[in-house]
Amino acid sequence: MSNKESKGFETRAIHSGRDYVGETGAVTPPVWLTSTFEYGNPNGFDYTRSGNPNFRLLERTVATLESAQFCTSFGSGVSAITAVVSTLKSGDVVVAEENIYGCTFRLFAQVFAKFGVEVRYVDFTEASYREVIASSNPALVWIESPTNPNLKIIDIAEVAEVAHAAGAPLIVDNTFSSSYLQRPIELGADLSLISLTKYTNGHSDALVGAVCTNDETWQEKMIFAQKALGLQPSPMDCWLTLRGAKTEAIRMERHSSNALALAEFLESETGAVTVRYPFLPSHPQYEIAKRQMSGGSGIVTVDFGMSLEETQAFLDRLTLFPKAESLGGVESLCCHPASMTHASVPKETREAVGITDSLVRFSVGIETVADLIEDVKNALPS
Ligand SMILES: *Cc1c(COP(=O)(O)O)cnc(C)c1O
Repeated sequence: MSNKESKGFETRAIHSGRDYVGETGAVTPPVWLTSTFEYGNPNGFDYTRSGNPNFRLLERTVATLESAQFCTSFGSGVSAITAVVSTLKSGDVVVAEENIYGCTFRLFAQVFAKFGVEVRYVDFTEASYREVIASSNPALVWIESPTNPNLKIIDIAEVAEVAHAAGAPLIVDNTFSSSYLQRPIELGADLSLISLTKYTNGHSDALVGAVCTNDETWQEKMIFAQKALGLQPSPMDCWLTLRGAKTEAIRMERHSSNALALAEFLESETGAVTVRYPFLPSHPQYEIAKRQMSGGSGIVTVDFGMSLEETQAFLDRLTLFPKAESLGGVESLCCHPASMTHASVPKETREAVGITDSLVRFSVGIETVADLIEDVKNALPS
């Protein structure tokens, strides 16, 4: 498998997970359901909390898909976030995007604040973020792009330069984009964190997270966190996610084309107040999106300007978009951030970051796009 780096994304996704099967010829790897390994085995496995063949197969594949040298797998995206933040110490400052993923915000506010880690939130689409980084001596700069649910696009290469000038490493949560559409390490990020639960797995049937890097010191810290903090995934979830990764490229193409078609329909034919999609020319950071992503991914947010009750009634009339948290599966879903993902955030705080009562987020699946558009059309008030 040594020359795999020169092969295309799809080839690497399908062929990089074929080790450990030399003696049987199995084309698909088994699930190694074992908690422990006999001492002295040639691959150096000892106990599944610190490594398992299914972790390694997935880690190698995700590393190559992210153009990274190293990857460490964790029990979920949140476990991966915990692993990274656990490397900080009391007094450290993190400069983070203000529209960061809700569970990352909660971890910082309700867990790591108790250990003295301070977070300064800024809007990375405003030039003033540069001064905040320069004056904060941050231990870490934390962004995601696109953000949830506003789909802000942040210029990863530019932020990497600004962070490095201040001596700080940059971590990018790449979950919303997927490895197929965007590779933060190529753009200068030090760490790329992914909830593989979403697009990499793609079938809503397992939770796994990963951190990718080219930096050996960071990699050692991640391996340490996996075993010392008990953040390891399950072999079965790694197996399912590796199977999902094999079709990531074609799924992402369809997620992106379906979402673009739905976004165009919403913008031109429904009278919506705002439609957000990275690859719509009306998106405020359209140019940056086009530069750093090869497709717009599968999330569309729309604000119809309706009341809370009207918005909820609209969502209840949809038949092909079950109301559910999460995203990135082959099936479409819808989410009402004000009453679901961001329900715990006070209304004024929510609205200050654009999460109104009438905001709807679609995770657009890979169904027949005409059916999805028809479903939305039929659910809108006439
Ligand atoms: C879902 C998600 C996570 C957390 O991942 P889990 O696998 O659910 O723990 C982190 N970041 C983003 C952007 C996500 O959407």
